[in-house]
Amino acid sequence: MPAIDALECAEVVRLLDDYLDRELSPGQMRLLEKHLEVCAVCAVEARFEDSVLREMREKLQRISVPPGLEARVRRALARARLGEDNDRPARE
Ligand SMILES: [Zn+2]
Repeated sequence: MPAIDALECAEVVRLLDDYLDRELSPGQMRLLEKHLEVCAVCAVEARFEDSVLREMREKLQRISVPPGLEARVRRALARARLGEDNDRPARE
């Protein structure tokens, strides 16, 4: 059985969100695309995630967000992120 390629399935799944958001480097995008061409398991997973993301974006575009809600969500996210950062060793 030939090696699928440099990326393992676990790595592909981990990078899938960023891949679908086109947030990976061109090199990583290529590696993922290559993996998805030869690995049916990851290809199915990618298609599923892609359809879920698409559906979510369409729904978000259709509903009108109540004023103030977006800011509240952003603040909650920022707080959650700060909380996570406190568990990590300081970088500076
Ligand atoms: Zn795979």
